Amino acid sequence: MLEVLRRIIQDVGAAPDLQSALAVVTGALRRVLRADVASVYLSDPQRGCHVLMYSDGLAPGAVGKLRLKYHQGLVGLVAERAEPVNLADARSHPRFHSFPESGEKAFRSFLGVPIVHQGRTLGVLVVQRRAARAFDEQEVTFLITLAAQLAGPVALAGADGLQVCGPARSSRQRMVTGAPGAPGVALGRARALIRPSRLNAVPDRACADPEAEVARYKRALAATRRDFTRMRRRLAAHLPGEDQAVFDAYDLMLRSDSLTREVVKGIRAGSWAPAALRDVVLSHARRFEVMEDPYLRERAQDIRDVGRRVLQRLLQQEPDTKRPWPRRTILVGEELSVSEIAEVPARQLAGIACVRGSVNSHVAIVARGLGVPAVTGAEELNVQRIDGQELVVDGYQGKVYVRPGAAVRREYRRLVREEEALTEGLQALAGEPAETTDGHRMPLYVNGGLLSDLAASLDRGAEGVGLYRTEFPFMIRETFPGEEEQRQIYRRILEGFAPRPVVLRTLDVGGDKPLPYFPVEEDNPFLGWRGIRLTLDHPEIFLTQLRAMLRASAGLDNLHLLLPMLTQLGELDDALALVEQARGELAEEGVEVPRPRVGVMVEVPAAVYQAEALARRVDFLSIGSNDLTQYLLAVDRNNPRVARLYDPLHPAVLRAIGQVVEAGHRAGIRVSVCGEMAGDPAAVPLLLGLGVDSLS
Ligand code: PEP
Ligand code: MG
Repeated sequence: MLEVLRRIIQDVGAAPDLQSALAVVTGALRRVLRADVASVYLSDPQRGCHVLMYSDGLAPGAVGKLRLKYHQGLVGLVAERAEPVNLADARSHPRFHSFPESGEKAFRSFLGVPIVHQGRTLGVLVVQRRAARAFDEQEVTFLITLAAQLAGPVALAGADGLQVCGPARSSRQRMVTGAPGAPGVALGRARALIRPSRLNAVPDRACADPEAEVARYKRALAATRRDFTRMRRRLAAHLPGEDQAVFDAYDLMLRSDSLTREVVKGIRAGSWAPAALRDVVLSHARRFEVMEDPYLRERAQDIRDVGRRVLQRLLQQEPDTKRPWPRRTILVGEELSVSEIAEVPARQLAGIACVRGSVNSHVAIVARGLGVPAVTGAEELNVQRIDGQELVVDGYQGKVYVRPGAAVRREYRRLVREEEALTEGLQALAGEPAETTDGHRMPLYVNGGLLSDLAASLDRGAEGVGLYRTEFPFMIRETFPGEEEQRQIYRRILEGFAPRPVVLRTLDVGGDKPLPYFPVEEDNPFLGWRGIRLTLDHPEIFLTQLRAMLRASAGLDNLHLLLPMLTQLGELDDALALVEQARGELAEEGVEVPRPRVGVMVEVPAAVYQAEALARRVDFLSIGSNDLTQYLLAVDRNNPRVARLYDPLHPAVLRAIGQVVEAGHRAGIRVSVCGEMAGDPAAVPLLLGLGVDSLS
């Protein structure tokens, strides 16, 4: 059963659209469960009914037409209870509702299970038999498992899928919900970014000059064949002859007339080469995947592999970024990295929408830094089909409108105008001191990571930089930046803000901030080689950075160093020793710099419980509430499924903050909060009450 299930799911994943996916599911269900009918009903919330979306067994004319009110019939009962209903004789059940046009009366037994995605019932999967015999336990669990697996793709197809009788690519407005990533609203045009190696992620796109596109495809094909020849030569010494035959098979596939013919046909029908390739490769792979023979089934993997390589070649020939960016670009991707965001010309980046991530992921933080509205965790966004579409990004509510209708566009344009007016109004407060009405001072600092996001903050009254994430300039380069290059970046910040304090955090990569040129494979990156752990293991990287920071601070005296992700006192001792070593080296080179103030980030429970001991060794503590919340509550800050559990105002987090503040004050040092909650107006009164000394 498991094997059958795996295969069905694979086919569903590879299906080009919802209808084909449902055909796969219903066909397989009839076979596997020896049922006479297998049907899928999907909920249509706009009309308050369940629509028969696909059926293998009921009258074909009923598909798309048979609609049951939410609480009507056995389908309604399954959805209402959100649990399976298994009946030997459906007709004798009081909720049975007959639709003569469907031909349903001929079937006695009924098993329906809900399709539930993230707590929301999306539809009902039904199998029926002529004989009046209930389905057995194994059959029920099989259907439950399949429905659970199907929920993701159904959710992804979303409202588009409900247009069963309409064109595959609808022109109707669609709304996708995610999490509010960065505040603000924006209207613009989608630019979908794809990672070169994933066929499934290739977006649909039209091509203006099919013949040029065919030529491009053929060049990519030839280049891939050359790649295989090279690989074969390189491996010849290490691989037995029979294993090298795999390259012959690859070559054969690349030379296959049918592959080229089908792709070229797709291109001439108006598609760009990557999408034409995607469709052909996935459909060939699918054919192999359903074969009974395990050897042949495995070949599907080879076909995908070859397809991916051609795709890579295609994309290399014409980097995605060569296309002009839309005037108001809404950047869309499954995952987006800081470097991908940085590629869009700043003036043209209007908004960001991302399938993964949550309000605390770094995409969201960068978006906020740049003042660009963002929605993260929009799992139902179809990246493949979104390129070039008009979008509205609502970063307050975490909503994305695809192809917004006139009314939505009008409303959001009004909101944009209102926001502009509000920002202008706030500008008048920029020069006011940050203090409460009863005269309590609470300095407000800025967080940043790119130079561009700091520039405007001085005009807005920032009293210094409370957290500069040095990993961002590392992430947008192709190699580790050298000492002089780093010095220049740090100098611009230190000088720009002097005499105000500037807190430069040492490199905090790992977790969700990988460096493209320093890949680290880990099962649990957030519990892995992050922050100080990595830099202490690579003193050459750490010392280069420390030297650059110290040199940048010469003559300014506003540098504060901040150490991320500390869990052990020993790490602090080691880091402090390296700071002294860097100072010593510079002194030998004739550059005298005073000892910088050093602080520790409190962002893991271990640091909370050792706060006083840490505080006695440093000049300030800075609470990283983003990670502290994640580690205290055991909630991944990037996982949209548990995003509702991620709460910096959770009593456990507030208590921890209170304890850290007290420990810091006992040691006579100041404690700031530099996580995102410091920018949340609802959290500020609590942080003030807990005795936090400054916010960043
Ligand atoms: C934090 O964890 O709160 C923090 C400020 O660091 P980052 O968000 O960069 O992990
Ligand atoms: Mg952190």
